Amino acid sequence: MKCAEHPGLDAVSTCQACGKGLCPDCTEAFVRPLCIPCAIQENKTALAHNEAMIREAKKPMYLAGGLFVLTFALILNSAGIEGALNAVVVATVVAMTPAGWQFLGRFFNPGSGYVHLGMRWASAFVHLGMSMALGVIIGPIQILKSLRQIKRLKQLNAEIVASGDI
Ligand SMILES: [Zn+2]
Ligand SMILES: [Zn+2]
Repeated sequence: MKCAEHPGLDAVSTCQACGKGLCPDCTEAFVRPLCIPCAIQENKTALAHNEAMIREAKKPMYLAGGLFVLTFALILNSAGIEGALNAVVVATVVAMTPAGWQFLGRFFNPGSGYVHLGMRWASAFVHLGMSMALGVIIGPIQILKSLRQIKRLKQLNAEIVASGDI
């Protein structure tokens, strides 16, 4: 078998995606043996995947931001400017509650296990209260994690683009 890119050279390996022959240079060209069209395709897929991951990582931040602005505006609207400090505190707690709710959801399923409807509501209510308390701690950690993840994904994509194999 000959190299798919260099027909004059004997293949020493094959593209791991399509099975075409690769010469020694082409075998070493990418992290794993790939022909150029397959490497381009793989990079495009990786780019799109990373972009999707970035969008996913941004979603909880948008939610927190939206909840903060909404709560802050509502409280300020009713309490006036002297309520601004309170509004910041309450809006922060509200904005971080979904993060606490999600974190707690890994261990407890609100309302589950209770046949009585009142107990289900009580359970959900306790879950909400604990989410508010936990969210203030968990929320900022998650935002930092998301920001770091987004930064890393953007770096990866920049490397892919800079490699020119796209
Ligand atoms: Zn290939
Ligand atoms: Zn070659």
